[in-house]
Amino acid sequence: MSLDPQVVWEQRWHPLREEWVLFTSHRGGRPWIGETHAPRELDPPAYDPTCALCPGNRRLRGENPAYTGTYWFTNDLPCFSPDAPGSPDGDSFYRTRPALGTAEVVCYHPDHGKTFVDLADDEARAVVELWAERYRELGSRPDVDHVLIFENKGSLVGTSNPHPHCQIYAGNLVYAHMEREAEAGRRFFERTGRFLGQEVLAREAAGPRVIAANDHFVACVPWFARYAYEILILPRRQAASLAELTAGEREALGLMIREVATRYDNLWQMPMPYVMAIHQAPTDGRDYSTFPFHIEFHPPLRKPDTMKYLAGPEIGGGSMTNESNPDDRAADLRSAAGPHYRKGTAG
Ligand SMILES: [Zn+2]
Repeated sequence: MSLDPQVVWEQRWHPLREEWVLFTSHRGGRPWIGETHAPRELDPPAYDPTCALCPGNRRLRGENPAYTGTYWFTNDLPCFSPDAPGSPDGDSFYRTRPALGTAEVVCYHPDHGKTFVDLADDEARAVVELWAERYRELGSRPDVDHVLIFENKGSLVGTSNPHPHCQIYAGNLVYAHMEREAEAGRRFFERTGRFLGQEVLAREAAGPRVIAANDHFVACVPWFARYAYEILILPRRQAASLAELTAGEREALGLMIREVATRYDNLWQMPMPYVMAIHQAPTDGRDYSTFPFHIEFHPPLRKPDTMKYLAGPEIGGGSMTNESNPDDRAADLRSAAGPHYRKGTAG
C-alpha cells in the first residue's frame, strides 16, 4: 500500500486527557452509503412566542423579564439542586450520593434569531463577563465542586431551540475530562516545572494548525484532535479559570469565540453544529493553580452532510479515532476567514 505523504496513520498522545487517539486519515474518504444530513439553513424570527428563553415569555416555572442584554435563570428542571433527594439504598460497593448544586441557563441575547456570530463586540464581552461572574459565584458555594459551562448548538447535538444560549451545570460532581486535566496539569508541573496548557500553546502557536490569534488567545485544531474540526482556544498565559482573566483578556476571548463560530459557519456556508465546553478548574477548595484553562469546540460533522458516528472503537472500546489530518482541517478553517457568509445578504 502506497500512502500520500499527507496521510496521518498513527497514534498520538493526548497530553490533556492522557490517552491515545488513533489517526487514520487514509480512511477519511471511504465510500459512505449511510444516512446523510442535508445542511439546513435556519432563519428563526427575532421573537418566538413559543420559546422558553425569549424576553417576556412564560417558562415551565416562572416568566422571563423583558431583558435587553444577557440574562440567566435557574433551570426549571435542574440536574443538580439543593433539593435533590439522593437514595438511601447505596452501600460501599454500589455507592450513591445526592446530586447537589444547581443548574442555570444563560441567554446571550434577547434576539431569538441571533447566534454568537451576530453579537457586537460589547455583547460578546458581556457574555464572557457573565460566565466569569457565574463561575465565581457558583464556585464559592459549598455544595459546588465544579462549574461546567457548555453550549450545545444545533439539532445534531440535541438542541431544538435556536435561541442563543448556553447552560451551566454546577454541582458536587467534578466532570471527568476536567478531573483528568487537573491531574495531568499537576503531574506535568511536578515533573517539568512548566504549565501543561502553556506547553500545548508553545507547540501549536507557531505551527500549521493555528486558525486565528489575537493578543491574548490562539485558536487551533490541535495535533491530538479527537474530532475532524475540533478547535481549542488557548490563553497565551497560564490561567486556571475565567475568574483569573483580566478585563482585556475576557474581551479578547469573546471576540475569539465569535471568530471561531464565524469560521465554522463559513466553512460549509451553513450553521455549524457543535458542542462547546469551557474547561475550568474545579472549585472544591483544592489547589488548581496548574489547571490548563481553555475552551474546546467539538463539531459532530466531518463533512457537510456526514456525522462522525461514535461506534465500536469509541463507545465500545473507549478510544477515539480521527479519520483526518489536523493540519489539513486547520487549513480548511483558515480559508474560511472573513465576514460571516450571511452578512450583507439575508443578514
Ligand atoms: Zn427565543
